[in-house]
Amino acid sequence: MNRQGYYGAWGGAFIPEVLYETFRELNIAFQAAKADSSFWREYIDLMQSYSCRPTPLTRADNLSDHFGGARIYIKREDLNHTGAHKANNVMGQGLLVKRMGKKRVIAETGAGQHGVATATMAAKFGLECTIYMGEEDVMRQRPNVFWMEKMGATVIPVTSGSRTLKDAINEAFRDWVSSMDGTHYVMGTVCGPHPFPEMVAWFQSIIGLEAREQILAAHGELPARVFACVGGGSNAMGIFQGFLNDPSVELIGVEAGGHGLASGQHAARLAGDDGSAGVAQGYKTMFLQNDDGQMRDTHSVAAGLDYVGVSPILTDLWEKKRVRFAAATDQEVMAALELTMKKEGIIPALESSHGFVQAFKEAGELNKDQAIIINMSGRGDKDIFTIAHAFNDPSWKQFIINKGKEYATD
Ligand SMILES: *Cc1c(COP(=O)(O)O)cnc(C)c1O
Repeated sequence: MNRQGYYGAWGGAFIPEVLYETFRELNIAFQAAKADSSFWREYIDLMQSYSCRPTPLTRADNLSDHFGGARIYIKREDLNHTGAHKANNVMGQGLLVKRMGKKRVIAETGAGQHGVATATMAAKFGLECTIYMGEEDVMRQRPNVFWMEKMGATVIPVTSGSRTLKDAINEAFRDWVSSMDGTHYVMGTVCGPHPFPEMVAWFQSIIGLEAREQILAAHGELPARVFACVGGGSNAMGIFQGFLNDPSVELIGVEAGGHGLASGQHAARLAGDDGSAGVAQGYKTMFLQNDDGQMRDTHSVAAGLDYVGVSPILTDLWEKKRVRFAAATDQEVMAALELTMKKEGIIPALESSHGFVQAFKEAGELNKDQAIIINMSGRGDKDIFTIAHAFNDPSWKQFIINKGKEYATD
């Protein structure tokens, strides 16, 4: 990254003039915190006492035996407080807010997971908290809205435009322009204007730091491959950073293939050919957009992967061929989820299951003394209704992956 927050040709900070000073101050505060080793120690202490860190690296023997190839290990980000890796990011930003002396945080959320995590952090740090959410999403995500409000946050339903995530983003920025002196905007992933990608990647790097140590202790050598699902890219960047300087470790990001790449109904910005370069929401990356630069509607069974942009850091690593990208369809995801539940008694989130799909496709190519890691970004409890619904129409059961080996669960 150079000084302007570019990763190769990607990233930057395309922000309105009025926010310039706020971003400058944020960057100065963040760089000072990053250079201060006591800040990172405070962060680690907090994550240990509040969010179950270090999260375990679980050896999945039944799955490994099923595919008959690589030893499969699962990094258990689902065991974080609030059930996903999002806690790593929001708690880190909370410490930064405390350091900056601000008293209020705002965030936007689609599926509500980032909203819940932010409300949790605000309660813990005694901050005022406002969450912007499309009216459509408020109705779809009742339980999350309930908990945000019970933890003291104000949830504002956004009624403009399509009443979903992108309208909520616009509203949250409008708030920030008028409140920036005392308010911090809690970015949910490794996207947006500089310094957010760098900041969120730094907090999430705790995943990779732990995973590298854990796999060396458990397996005696580095993994052959590391798999992670990619929405904005924060859990993937989190674990990948532990292995970026190990050229023998292949890094694989898995995007939402939705109804299949050919259907146009997916969120694959880097896998496949549908993504194109653009500038939106304050940064430059590969977006899913039409010929006029209008953002396309994306689709995924996993709400957390249903996003038009992707981290500029990952786009750079993709361009440099350091990270390989693949896509998993909704049907493949259901098959992988069911197999993981039956074989290991573990319920991955629909998002995380995308990483499992690609790992399952490739496990058989490797031999028994090689290891792979799947980053399990979160737990599937939140997806109970979607999963139950999918089980009513089990056409995905026919799904065949891993060189013709069917997902037989018995
Ligand atoms: C939000 C979320 C994601 C997607 O976000 P990234 O920034 O790509 O990590 C993935 N998994 C879970 C469980 C989530 O809650």
